[in-house]
Amino acid sequence: MDNNEKKNKIIALTAAGAVILLLLAFLIFGKGRQEKSNDVTVVCSFYPVYVLAQNLLDGTGCNVVNMTENLTGCIHDYQMTTKDMKALDGASILMVNGGGMESFLDKVKQNYPKLHVIEVSAAHPEQENPHIWMSTDFEMDCIDFVSTALCDALPDQKDKIRKNAETYGNKIFEGPYKERLDLSDKIEESGRNIRVICFNEAFEVFTDSIGLYNIAVFSLDENETPSAADIAKAIETAKRCDEVVILIEEELAINADKIVEETGAKLIYIDPLTSGNGADSYIKGMTKNLEAMEDYLK
Ligand SMILES: [Zn+2]
Repeated sequence: MDNNEKKNKIIALTAAGAVILLLLAFLIFGKGRQEKSNDVTVVCSFYPVYVLAQNLLDGTGCNVVNMTENLTGCIHDYQMTTKDMKALDGASILMVNGGGMESFLDKVKQNYPKLHVIEVSAAHPEQENPHIWMSTDFEMDCIDFVSTALCDALPDQKDKIRKNAETYGNKIFEGPYKERLDLSDKIEESGRNIRVICFNEAFEVFTDSIGLYNIAVFSLDENETPSAADIAKAIETAKRCDEVVILIEEELAINADKIVEETGAKLIYIDPLTSGNGADSYIKGMTKNLEAMEDYLK
């Protein structure tokens, strides 16, 4: 090998090495850039809000956090912890249910004036019951409302958020929304005078959405047990009705024992959808709730 050949070989090897390095760098950093967080943290007050945010912000690189991930119920009377406040320190957006669900909200707005606060239930300000997600119709309105608010807050992610809103909205429309319509029709056509006792305020929004009337609503979701007088009153009313059902969470069914005993009312297990797993958990849970009602009607 003469000097020229040697030189050429060295140049060729160096060039090949450089190409490989460039390719590696592209693979590592190019991919990394795609998956990298965009440094926007969105804190959600509790599970139903978190699921909505997860779906709307999918693929945007935002860091979506559930502030109360260890909580399985609502957040009525929840007091913020030091850890929660720390989470808000690094957040750009706080997504809450609103409608009085978060008693700490005014204080947060005062203490974090730069935080962009999105109140999901502002999609239906006329609603007095804040458990707005328990109606598929309301949930679809919330998707529209919240996605618009998120586009305003994150203009760089507009296209992605709009597309996510369309995808998620279609999933609910084709799934639980259509089932809800079908169930409401069946209830109406049955001509049955079904009356309901709800053992969770969230279920009141659910029964309203399918066209059933409540004779009593208790709020076990706020860790309260109804008083003996409340139960006695519900029993008295139930005895005057043609047909009474009790909507309750399965693990809390014991609280309805006395009513069942004295009136023969049937139990229907409903999930308030305040806990779950994965971005499809709302759709799955709501479908299960509607199926439980449908099974009862058969
Ligand atoms: Zn609640």
